[in-house]
Amino acid sequence: MPATLIGAHMPTGKGLPDAVRRGKTIGCTAIQIFTSSPQQWKSKPLAPDASEKLAEAIQETGIDPQAMVSHDSYLINLCAPDPEKQAMSREALTRELTRCAELKIPYVVSHMGAHLGQGEDIGLEMVAEQTIGLLQEIPDGVTLLMETTAGQGSSLNYKFEHLAKLLELTKSPKNLAICLDTCHIFAAGYDIRTKETYEATFAEFDRLIGCEVIKVIHCNDSKKALGTKVDRHNHLGEGEIGETAFRCLVHDARFEKTPIVVETPEADTMHEVNVQRLWNWAGEAKP
Ligand SMILES: [Zn+2]
Ligand SMILES: [Zn+2]
Repeated sequence: MPATLIGAHMPTGKGLPDAVRRGKTIGCTAIQIFTSSPQQWKSKPLAPDASEKLAEAIQETGIDPQAMVSHDSYLINLCAPDPEKQAMSREALTRELTRCAELKIPYVVSHMGAHLGQGEDIGLEMVAEQTIGLLQEIPDGVTLLMETTAGQGSSLNYKFEHLAKLLELTKSPKNLAICLDTCHIFAAGYDIRTKETYEATFAEFDRLIGCEVIKVIHCNDSKKALGTKVDRHNHLGEGEIGETAFRCLVHDARFEKTPIVVETPEADTMHEVNVQRLWNWAGEAKP
């Protein structure tokens, strides 16, 4: 079966319920949102009726509650060398996970950390330590997803080995899994442009981690070439990756029930176009 959960990162300027409703009108069956500003440490407390209002919108639109995803703040760095920044990061991520548990949003995607010159091994150890601690403090019902990165700057997790290491160091708690971003892995050097390279890259992921650990996919084409380690999203089929990879993705039986979320530019006009492309490719024969 082709993919069933296709959607986009929806702007939340008019609130979370509105983001869900507008997502539905442009063809989404999966929705990603920010529950607070991604550029700020502080977050407003939830209104007392926030989770009720969101649940109403989810029910009304028929969106699968398991296809709701949140993205954490970009400021969070669990291996920041400055202990104060590290503590703020842990607190902000714990708060986001707790808020999502309250809102019944099952997944929170995080970039986890950048080692800022400390070295990858030390960075991974620090991230693992913080992650073990914070996952013990959060309520049930929410899973933290570590996102694959493009490897920009000193970001960790641009290699599948990093994610495998974090799962090993944390002993794979049940509330920890992975979000794979097609643009990021491509910019990091994993080719997916043809059926053969797509299969080889996912076979490598499967060998090191297991594709069943991927709970959400960020579906973005790339403005930058393979291995450039620069994270610039492009519209699907218009970038360096090209449409074959996305056709393979929406026909990949492993991801039939995995939320596949577009995070491309010009949300107001282009999300609908990109989401529709995915549905079209899903409706066509396998590549
Ligand atoms: Zn992403
Ligand atoms: Zn990105």
